Amino acid sequence: MTSAPAIVTGYGPRLTVDLGAIQRNWQALDKVSAGALTGAAVKADGYGLGAVPVAKALYVAGTRFFFVATPDEGLALRPALPEAHIFVLNGLFPGAAPLYVGERLMPVLNSLPMLEEWLVACLGRNEALPAALHFDTGMNRLGFRLNETSIVKRMIEDVGYAPQMIMSHLACADQPQHEKNRTQLALFSSVINQFPGIPASLANSAATMTSREMHFQMVRPGIALYGGRAVNGRKNPMVPAVTLEAPVIQIRECKTGESVGYGASYILPRDTRLAIIALGYADGFIRAASSTNQHAGGRVHLRGTLCPLIGRVSMDMFAIDITDLGNDIPIPGEMVEVLGPNVSVDDQADPAGTIGYEILTSLKGRYPRTYVSAAEQPAA
Ligand SMILES: *Cc1c(COP(=O)(O)O)cnc(C)c1O
Repeated sequence: MTSAPAIVTGYGPRLTVDLGAIQRNWQALDKVSAGALTGAAVKADGYGLGAVPVAKALYVAGTRFFFVATPDEGLALRPALPEAHIFVLNGLFPGAAPLYVGERLMPVLNSLPMLEEWLVACLGRNEALPAALHFDTGMNRLGFRLNETSIVKRMIEDVGYAPQMIMSHLACADQPQHEKNRTQLALFSSVINQFPGIPASLANSAATMTSREMHFQMVRPGIALYGGRAVNGRKNPMVPAVTLEAPVIQIRECKTGESVGYGASYILPRDTRLAIIALGYADGFIRAASSTNQHAGGRVHLRGTLCPLIGRVSMDMFAIDITDLGNDIPIPGEMVEVLGPNVSVDDQADPAGTIGYEILTSLKGRYPRTYVSAAEQPAA
């Protein structure tokens, strides 16, 4: 896809978040998981895009269930979304029950001590405070071990407590053929059979998109909402939600055999015209996107052409090869697209040996974040 060259004289990069795209992505997933509620993972500041504006847009689209990692993230959302149901994935921190209760945050109870502490809080208030129970079916990260199921069952039955939800998390959902998915589904099914009538939740983005039998009563997509690729080896059907642009600050004419950047890690194999771009790892453009003669790195879109990154990403800038643009030479101040409709987060992630999640959550830079809503989008 090519677009008209956007010539903007700016001093630095700018990030634009398309809230309408995030809403459309949520709606698409909500349609796919029609029999289940569709929640939204907005942890890590809404995957780096700004938890409050993102969650507000998702609420308008129809989401009522939000997943954050820490209680602080839950507190940050609460004033913006007084009616939302907010689950705290990392669990209940010791002594924090009054805070959770006060702000109506629902802990995802991951261990017997957490469950004990929550049940004590419930007894103290004579109230079945909502929380989720998380069982580990193979991730080995958080959650009750399966051999603790009968203890969990006894503990909640003893006090007549019913959790809001039973959940588990998949280790390999991005590889739908991986046999671990079957194993985890079978183990999860055996757990939920022991808690009849309690809603269950297993699916992240990838499982929402690939396996109806994993939807249960609620799906919990994250990355797909933000336009990232959830399922490996398939065309990503989601709409990109982020545009990161950075200005050209200088054009350089270089000779065959010269090196570029720190470590002299790239030797030019031909006479090359470089453009220096004002974006670096201090802006969250990760250094792993660097290139050498042996290994291609990131790329940017400029005047209808994908231009490769040359040499190492430095703190405040990187170089791109614009030789193939010929006499179509950009002017300083002109913006290149680092992420957007022509360069996806996964296009930047793959050569850097990482995932779109890390590209997005690294976007903490010296640039303004602008939000555009559905109404402000030009007609397609
Ligand atoms: C982050 C997370 C999700 C969302 O995962 P995506 O792969 O981003 O869709 C769902 N559930 C849990 C427990 C998570 O930690």
